[in-house]
Amino acid sequence: MEYKYIREKPLGIYIHIPFCIKKCRYCDFLSFADTDRSFHEIYTAKMTDEIASWSLIHNNMYTVDTIFVGGGTPSILSPELLCDLLDAVFARYRVREDAEITIEANPGTLTPEKLTAFRNAGFTRISMGAQSFDPGLLKMMGRIHTPEEIFESFSTARKAGFDNINLDLIFGLPGETQKQWMKDIDTAIGLTPEHISFYSLQIEEGTEIYHDIVSGKVETLPDLEDRIMYHNAIETLTEAGYGHYEISNAARPGFASRHNLKYWSLDDYLGVGLGAHSYVNGVRSANTNQISDYMSGNTDHGRISWLHKNSESDDISEYVFLGLRKTEGINFDHFRQAFGKNFWDLYSEETEKLIGRGLLERDDHTLRLTRLGLDLSNQVFSEYV
Ligand code: SF4
Repeated sequence: MEYKYIREKPLGIYIHIPFCIKKCRYCDFLSFADTDRSFHEIYTAKMTDEIASWSLIHNNMYTVDTIFVGGGTPSILSPELLCDLLDAVFARYRVREDAEITIEANPGTLTPEKLTAFRNAGFTRISMGAQSFDPGLLKMMGRIHTPEEIFESFSTARKAGFDNINLDLIFGLPGETQKQWMKDIDTAIGLTPEHISFYSLQIEEGTEIYHDIVSGKVETLPDLEDRIMYHNAIETLTEAGYGHYEISNAARPGFASRHNLKYWSLDDYLGVGLGAHSYVNGVRSANTNQISDYMSGNTDHGRISWLHKNSESDDISEYVFLGLRKTEGINFDHFRQAFGKNFWDLYSEETEKLIGRGLLERDDHTLRLTRLGLDLSNQVFSEYV
């Protein structure tokens, strides 16, 4: 898209808070248990320095339209520190008045005072890690909260003025039944959040759940059961008025995550903090994931550990396989506008093959995953890499 003035170019900012109260049993995200407030303060100060140095590089080129503070568990930070972070962005960048500003939060870390302070600081959206409403499954996952705390946090967030709430759910847990999963989905819908994310459990090497599986303590759920859960969730969410807009995300009309859509649309986003990734002006980069390096700021350019200038063919390939994550798929006219090329001149062979296997479907304007393609999306994406 051409912008009349370069400064209108939108930018999303992701801010990574790697701290949690304790590590969940399935988690291999870049996070660790740390509740030391003085360390949080130093880390936040490093991130405000990083925001300042990026803003000098960006030289007033962008207008921020989304901010996402994720983790980890950002809600264990004090509201004052979170306020400092948002202030650092507001001080250095133009931020649209209607910007979507999200904080990830976990039940068990929220109080009415905190939620009101988050709202007053400028957060417009809260993404809550519910994961399940089943006490046994929460315990198996090593979550810090009870089902009651989810209900309480949700209702407190509403009272604090959050009218855009996401609930994260996980399915496909060892021993989980279809009945338990559908109860989770129904309970989540019953709370009437604007957005629901639903992820199939990924068993990652090194996690406690992985060791339970390797030692034979628990068994993974068969793939077929997992896929039935997935499609039942889509069906139930759709019937309840949620639009399934990305492989693992559904939202009420107008509430799709504007920030996350950037990742799937090859839009610019800046990642700040430990291990955060960026895609800005055709350059992909990643910050170091070593906390000591991040804190000492030894590496160049805002603690970057890896940087790659995308070629045109990198951009084209990413546009296709990221765009196919969206259920609307990719639009051939938009593709031509973005790259000045005809999609079919580049990808007819692999695309016809995937259509033939029933993984993709097309009409005159768009190409998207089929129901089977949603299940085997990695096979589809690998054809375009
Ligand atoms: S709260 Fe989230 S980031 Fe923290 S350990 Fe649990 S799953 Fe990982």
